[in-house]
Amino acid sequence: MPKRTTHTYSSEDAVTDGTNSDLFVYYCKHCSSHVLISDNQLQKMPKRKTDKAYVLDKKKYLARLSVDDAGKVLLKRGEGKMEKQFRMSCKGCGLFVCYRAEEDLETASFIYVVDGALSTIAAETNPQDAPVPPCISQLEGGLVQVAIEVEDRAQRSAITRVNADDVRVTVTAPAARGEANNELLEFMGRVLGLKLSQMTLQRGWNSKSKLLVVEDLTARQVYEKLLEAAQP
Ligand SMILES: [Zn+2]
Repeated sequence: MPKRTTHTYSSEDAVTDGTNSDLFVYYCKHCSSHVLISDNQLQKMPKRKTDKAYVLDKKKYLARLSVDDAGKVLLKRGEGKMEKQFRMSCKGCGLFVCYRAEEDLETASFIYVVDGALSTIAAETNPQDAPVPPCISQLEGGLVQVAIEVEDRAQRSAITRVNADDVRVTVTAPAARGEANNELLEFMGRVLGLKLSQMTLQRGWNSKSKLLVVEDLTARQVYEKLLEAAQP
């Protein structure tokens, strides 16, 4: 078995603002400006069915925002249904990052955080500088290799951890069987936005350790997609 390092790259690290370890700080994915501080992880919050936005309940959780108001938008949602969004944008780059349904931010019950707009990975200055862990490596010819540790017979397929050594992925099938590989490939395809033909799965040192080789993405893109999908 490989030695495990203690440093993890899960989103539960690198998220404090230095004053209270229970606070999670979110940054604009585009320009890394600070946007939101909350006392719970976005990943643990429910998501809207319509646009997959995270629903941050202000009655339950802290929602300290650093945003500009970006105006009101009316959206058509199904037959004769209109949705009002009071949009908020990143102060750094103007990217639309979240919205609310009521005009007054103070009394609004929920903040809807746009799917994929924010990141906890800010490093000290810039999320682009956060290192890609060694388990995701760039190979010759534009290929990227990902070391995966499979946890089999789980309730569902999920990415539960990304650390220096490997990416832990749960599958429902027993790992020794072929179905586990198919399940793993299909799941990783969804996470990475790749077709089966763009991925190759190689067996590692035992049936639960795999090497996934993917095409058409950089190591950093793979890392970011995995982190986004991770559900610790
Ligand atoms: Zn920004």
